[in-house]
Amino acid sequence: MHLHLTNTLTKQKEVFTPEDMDNVRMYNCGVTPYDYAHIGNARNAVAFDVLFRILRQIYTPENVTYVRNFTDVDDKIIARAAEVNTTEKELSQKFIQAYQADMAALGCLTPTHEPLVTEEIPAICTIVNQLLANGYAYVTETSDVNYDISKKADYGKLSRKKLDELVAGVRIDEDNTKRNPGDFALWKAAKKGEPTWDLTLSDGTILKGRPGWHIECSAMSAKYLGKTFDIHTGGEDLQFPHHENEIAQSEGAHAKDCCDKKHVNYWLHNAFITVGGKRMGKSLGNFTTVRDALEHYDGRAIRLWLLQTHYRKPVDFSQDALKASQKRLRRLHNAIADLDEGIKPNPDDFVKILKPLADDMNTSKAIAQLDILRAAASKGEATAAATLKQGMMLLGLL
Ligand SMILES: [Zn+2]
Repeated sequence: MHLHLTNTLTKQKEVFTPEDMDNVRMYNCGVTPYDYAHIGNARNAVAFDVLFRILRQIYTPENVTYVRNFTDVDDKIIARAAEVNTTEKELSQKFIQAYQADMAALGCLTPTHEPLVTEEIPAICTIVNQLLANGYAYVTETSDVNYDISKKADYGKLSRKKLDELVAGVRIDEDNTKRNPGDFALWKAAKKGEPTWDLTLSDGTILKGRPGWHIECSAMSAKYLGKTFDIHTGGEDLQFPHHENEIAQSEGAHAKDCCDKKHVNYWLHNAFITVGGKRMGKSLGNFTTVRDALEHYDGRAIRLWLLQTHYRKPVDFSQDALKASQKRLRRLHNAIADLDEGIKPNPDDFVKILKPLADDMNTSKAIAQLDILRAAASKGEATAAATLKQGMMLLGLL
């Protein structure tokens, strides 16, 4: 079966062709673990867990590698750790564990690798040095290392912004050390009281500091998936600047070794959760944590509610919608409650569930198929119940 995916890079729905059928590789930008995950974070994890499951179904589980990182050092973590009088490590460990438990409750499989920035500093230093060697980066007089966007002729190709538009979006601050206003930090010079590592340059100079945000994903994806790979996913807010900068970094560091192949072939972005039409977010204060929602609803009901809408469209959060989803899930579960283990599913009916999923993850259509099977199962059709169970397993609803 052919998988079709909507690629942000081309704005087209395309047939998915992996670079290597025996190792299909995807990377999803993870969270900054400084607090409990909210429903908006959950949407990203659930959406691309479905993709992971579809790939495992089509290419077999052994042939799919999924990487999702944790940004366990950044401004928010440093500020929050100081606020609650703990170390960055303790704070991030606590919320990494909470995130993993919450996502498991929502039926998400554990990714193949979940790297942490603080454990990947050598890989980050390597790619910063590659960018310096290839002429894409420069050391400033304040001992930061910046990326020079004027060196990348196609900078802006993902978000389709022109250079002057990109620059207009950047705050003009007192920082005169940048060659271009749109340049961004690969390495930030040490500040008092912050966690610090050594970046050793090729001439032996040591720059004390910590990585900028964008470079971690270029470093980790190269380490765990290779210099080029198949699918990169994330929330739609990450298209610019994060993913744009990731492309610039990865291609700047690796293009020569990759015969100018694309860093990533398919870019996928999920839309937001909204509350009364406004985006749910930590900074807006209109969020519900996954923890809070799990006190009232089954994790799989939350998942079912998220999957009722296509991942590229916004979902509006409401208690009524979650209550309805809880009922819908219960009906599905009831229909398979008395299923005899020996009954075999119907492969043709199972394909009716898989097919819409392979069409750019049309989860709502797949769930509608589950409802059709549920109706048949509740009339005593055991094969329909067995197929329903298989479909619910595929979607992570069991
Ligand atoms: Zn990222």
